[in-house]
Amino acid sequence: MTHIGVVGAGILGLATARRLAAAGAEVTVLDKEGRVAAHQTGHNSGVAHAGLYYAPGSLKATLCRRGIGMLKEYCAERGLPYVECGKVVVARDQGEVPRLREIERRATENGVPGLRWLDAAGLHEVEPHASGVAALRSPYTAIVDFPAVTRAFAEDVTKAGGTVRLGFEVTRIRAMGGEVVVNEELVFDRLVVCAGLQSDRVARLAGDSPAPAIVPFRGEYYRLVPSRTDLVRGLIYPVPDPRYPFLGVHFTRRVDGGVDVGPNAVPALAREGYRRRDLRPADLWETLRWPGFRRLARRHWRTGLREMYGSAFKHAFAAEARSFVPELAAADLVPAPAGVRAQAVDPDGSLVDDFRIGRRGPVVTVRNAPSPAATSSLAIAEHVAAQVLEV
Ligand SMILES: Cc1cc2nc3c(=O)[nH]c(=O)nc-3n(C[C@H](O)[C@H](O)[C@H](O)COP(=O)(O)OP(=O)(O)OC[C@H]3O[C@@H](n4cnc5c(N)ncnc54)[C@H](O)[C@@H]3O)c2cc1C
Repeated sequence: MTHIGVVGAGILGLATARRLAAAGAEVTVLDKEGRVAAHQTGHNSGVAHAGLYYAPGSLKATLCRRGIGMLKEYCAERGLPYVECGKVVVARDQGEVPRLREIERRATENGVPGLRWLDAAGLHEVEPHASGVAALRSPYTAIVDFPAVTRAFAEDVTKAGGTVRLGFEVTRIRAMGGEVVVNEELVFDRLVVCAGLQSDRVARLAGDSPAPAIVPFRGEYYRLVPSRTDLVRGLIYPVPDPRYPFLGVHFTRRVDGGVDVGPNAVPALAREGYRRRDLRPADLWETLRWPGFRRLARRHWRTGLREMYGSAFKHAFAAEARSFVPELAAADLVPAPAGVRAQAVDPDGSLVDDFRIGRRGPVVTVRNAPSPAATSSLAIAEHVAAQVLEV
């Protein structure tokens, strides 16, 4: 039997392990933390994206469309929450309408079902507290509990005879003679790396290229105080800036009934630092030394400073969100836990937009899997497993 190691017990590592175990492989998942979903998977917005924004034909577009259907079915099978509360993307002024039309064009080409273009009155009917000149509605965008989905995947892996070994940090990888040796201790026929914020480092351990490097971006959230959650029925998003892969501060209803506002996107001083004051010199040094980051910073310093200002001052964060939900007051917001995104950056300073999955001999590495990778996890798992089994 083929023995396959998987680095990372986030949603991608476990979805892939589950798929490989179902195909008859002997699977061992390794994670340095003491629990599954400890990083990005446990610190995200919990939205099952319908596939609105992504370039038609890209991996993001195809795997998100396939993945959301698989996720919905899986949640139904396992009795996990999956609520189709719907989403609106709001054009705040006429200047944003052409960009919203472009999102509508992409969404239509991607096959997103039930799309509806709304004028200001139509928006008011769907989201009475949102304000804009037009909006695009996606009724099947949903909310889920990604950590619960990930725990269910871990159960599937162990039920299929696989092993999930927590508290095991991969520090050495040696691929030779058709075998992959991890930490001079475990021997596999193949290895899959789904290491999220550490994916470039683990790829380098396996002799892969340093490019693209991971640049961590903190995403900070506030939560609406319970008396103000009626400001939002489902999910309300602004029209995103097409230069960035981030969606802009938005209003997200959670499966626990709360409403989060966020996340922003500020360069993080530690890859796994969830508090603003967290700084890890080795992480910061690696980011600053990466030529791609320096080029990115030179090109986008104005946006960076604006995001940092919004991060430092709650009134500025609230003002951004108030631009499409005018009744929001800074006093309605209380701080909520932040997340850190693993965003791959190429040496020329471009933010890698699509999912990127590479292979070097018997090692397959997920090098870039930002949002909507949690939504797409079951489809990404199919895609990665096919590559692994074909080695
Ligand atoms: C703020 C934020 C909001 C988001 N919102 C959404 C959303 O609404 N919808 C959506 O679809 N996606 C969203 N995403 C993206 C989504 O969360 C990620 O794409 C997804 O969780 C990636 O999963 P992963 O398994 O690749 O990474 P992770 O969940 O980060 O898991 C990687 C794992 O690898 C382990 N690891 C790393 N290095 C080692 C090592 N050397 N040895 C052993 N283990 C190691 C880590 O401990 C970790 O558990 C969001 C992300 C963020 C940060």
